[in-house]
Amino acid sequence: MERGGRAAGGLVTIGEFARLSRLSAKALRRYDELGLLRPALVDPGNGYRYYDRAQVETARLVAWLRRVGMPLSRITAVVALDPGAAAAEIRAYWARVETETAARRDLATFLIDHLTAEEVAMPRTPDDARGGNDSYAHDGPGRGAGAGTAGRGGAGAGLGTLGIRYAALTERGSVRESNQDAAYAGARLLAVADGFGESGAEASAAALDALKPAAQGVVGAADLLNALEDAADRASRAVRDAVAGRPAPEESGTTLTAMVWTGSRLGLVHIGDSRAYLLRDGELFRITHDHSLVQSMIDDGVLTAEEARSHPQRALLLKALAGGAGTVRTRPDVRLREARPGDRYLLCSDGLSAVVDEGDLRRAVIAADGPDTAVRDLAALAADAGGPDNVACVVADVVAL
Ligand code: MG
Repeated sequence: MERGGRAAGGLVTIGEFARLSRLSAKALRRYDELGLLRPALVDPGNGYRYYDRAQVETARLVAWLRRVGMPLSRITAVVALDPGAAAAEIRAYWARVETETAARRDLATFLIDHLTAEEVAMPRTPDDARGGNDSYAHDGPGRGAGAGTAGRGGAGAGLGTLGIRYAALTERGSVRESNQDAAYAGARLLAVADGFGESGAEASAAALDALKPAAQGVVGAADLLNALEDAADRASRAVRDAVAGRPAPEESGTTLTAMVWTGSRLGLVHIGDSRAYLLRDGELFRITHDHSLVQSMIDDGVLTAEEARSHPQRALLLKALAGGAGTVRTRPDVRLREARPGDRYLLCSDGLSAVVDEGDLRRAVIAADGPDTAVRDLAALAADAGGPDNVACVVADVVAL
């Protein structure tokens, strides 16, 4: 072996490779042990490791991905890809990290809030059953065109400071023969569901009904989390039961996007590609992530949001509540959110979000003087766009009492 760390055949020693790649020899040995970066040659006699200079780029990439926090198995896959595919894989990984971090941040915030306020007695919200002004919109299969029920609720009292005003609406649209969407707004629950398959209408109705007891007796953040987990499980079971015994139950099911209101907090239950948006400080944010093929392609960087709108498989869901044995694993996402006075929430099926231009949707949500006007204006936009799909939407305003 020559001085300066050169080895026969253009290979370099681990010491020289460490200098070239600005990594320690210890780190390189560790990468070898983990299978992340194998030396080009290991001397069978003395076990010395030798590297090819061409491996410097890979070594640096491994080091950076370790700093990003990517799991070892994923790093192994990324370094084997060409640069374009590696970039897409890193982008997809990071999108997932941000989603998970956001969910953990929300949970941490609520636990801090819950533990800080533990000594404060929280009054219970009034019972839904006494309200009588809930808005339940579902015009069901076989009914004619036209508006479903739209109603406006009063305020659900919570901690004595905040309440919600709400409206729900569902329409069949101009193309579909029946309406399989469902929408509900009540003092404790806001929900939309988009049924599919032969028993889609039964599935969407069952999912909404299963959520109705969700906020009963909820007094704090921990209670709300437990109630949401239970509600998510109950909705899964209810949909499975609703379509069981019907033809091809595994092909019938529903999306579900729902919010449970407890007086200052909103618990979000979400599965599929119906959406929840939040209008706050004049900006409209989408607060749900579609469980759809096109969304996963956007996350992976192989499709733009614009291209997704016209993708032939844009309606394909990766997760939904459905019948059949294979659906036991599909569980809605559960999140907690802190409500603020002035917040406006929109829940809608893809018959609105995938049909109406995003700018038009935002302007309509901002301009409406109340939930009732908002749901009517939004449904009108979908109708103006040809009404190709069923529409379900719920709008709720958080107000100071
Ligand atoms: Mg739809």
